[in-house]
Amino acid sequence: MQSKYLVIALFICMGFMSCKEDEKPDVTPLETYVEPEPDKEFGFVLEDYIVKRDTIKAGDSFGEILERNNIGYPKIFNIAEKTKDSFDITKLKAGKPYTLLCAKDSLQTPECFIYQPNSIDYVVIKMTDSIKAYTGKKPITIVQKEASGIVMNSLSETMESQGLPYQLINDMSDIYAWTIDFFRLQKGDRFKIVYKQRFIEDTIYAGIESIEAAYFEHKSEPFYAFNFQVDSTKNISDYFDENTKSLRRTFLKAPVQFSRISSRYNLNRRIKYYGYKLRPHRGTDFAAPIGTEILATANGTVTESTRRGGNGKYVKIKHNGTYSTQYLHMKAQNVKKGDFVKQGDVIGWVGMTGNTGGPHVCYRFWKNGKQVDPFKEKLPAAESIPDSLKSKYTEFIKPLKSQLDHIQFEDNTIELPIEEETLTSKIH
Ligand SMILES: [Zn+2]
Repeated sequence: MQSKYLVIALFICMGFMSCKEDEKPDVTPLETYVEPEPDKEFGFVLEDYIVKRDTIKAGDSFGEILERNNIGYPKIFNIAEKTKDSFDITKLKAGKPYTLLCAKDSLQTPECFIYQPNSIDYVVIKMTDSIKAYTGKKPITIVQKEASGIVMNSLSETMESQGLPYQLINDMSDIYAWTIDFFRLQKGDRFKIVYKQRFIEDTIYAGIESIEAAYFEHKSEPFYAFNFQVDSTKNISDYFDENTKSLRRTFLKAPVQFSRISSRYNLNRRIKYYGYKLRPHRGTDFAAPIGTEILATANGTVTESTRRGGNGKYVKIKHNGTYSTQYLHMKAQNVKKGDFVKQGDVIGWVGMTGNTGGPHVCYRFWKNGKQVDPFKEKLPAAESIPDSLKSKYTEFIKPLKSQLDHIQFEDNTIELPIEEETLTSKIH
């Protein structure tokens, strides 16, 4: 009997539903009216409250602020007790903003106290029902931006004059630390950048998220850089050029091909000729026939190309803020001061100038102004993208490279909002 009733009930129900379907008006509305979202901040609908905003004054305390707003001390004490494990109310700093959400009645009793220690984070102290404190973050919008410029004096001056954030200048010099010496740029060097900027609630600048792609033209040589994630589980990403090569450069193991090391870096070297006195050797000697090509072991700018005393004819190259290399006893130099050289470029030829007993190049490796043994240095790895990721990388950089190539040098910045992220977390 029961199942019979159920079946009947189902029929009635279905009939009712189909009837409703039929009653649906056969008119397609031309415009859909969307109710505007209520104005929300800190996760609250603001129009439900009387909103009072102020900043913490010097000498202000949580208790005094609440007392001024009609909350008595027994309740203040209770609030402080119940929230002490999640927020220390004595940590309120003068000058930081706070907001009180008060009841829409004649007493205007505060229901929420919201403190903002910085522009992103906030602390909510709920003072009605179950008293509690929790933290949240303002919604962050990530906006993709483009920038470009032509260097007249320095990169930082050019970027600053365009109102580009300082962090962007820093990030650029990090990306190109092994490729370009930003302290020795040439007038007319130019750059283009595609980067992501963070904004709080669409308006307040909150830092650079990342540089997605960059192009730098140094002494007419183009250098592309694309940020690519090589390990998603460890979240490792790095910059690579258009040919999947890392932007980091390791040094060539030797400045001459087909040579042998005739004397290593040795601070305790004693030489018979000098009566076995301590004669530290701060270089590495590579013996090779006169006329052998000497190669720059990494990209850099020639800071010295001259002849002096025991060094004979030599070249010194600055690679970045940390490393320089020096090549002594040359027969002749092939570069002059100020030249930009790439790894593997011929900078001179092996000779016997200066203080030397036989044809060799004495290779000196400078780190922060001190000579060190390059074979004992922990130098950055310069790994290319693994073969398994190469086709993925090639696809990944296509749109970015095309975007870079279409940026005009005259243009300043163009805004393209691409994604929104709401980062609200409760840490209670
Ligand atoms: Zn030497």
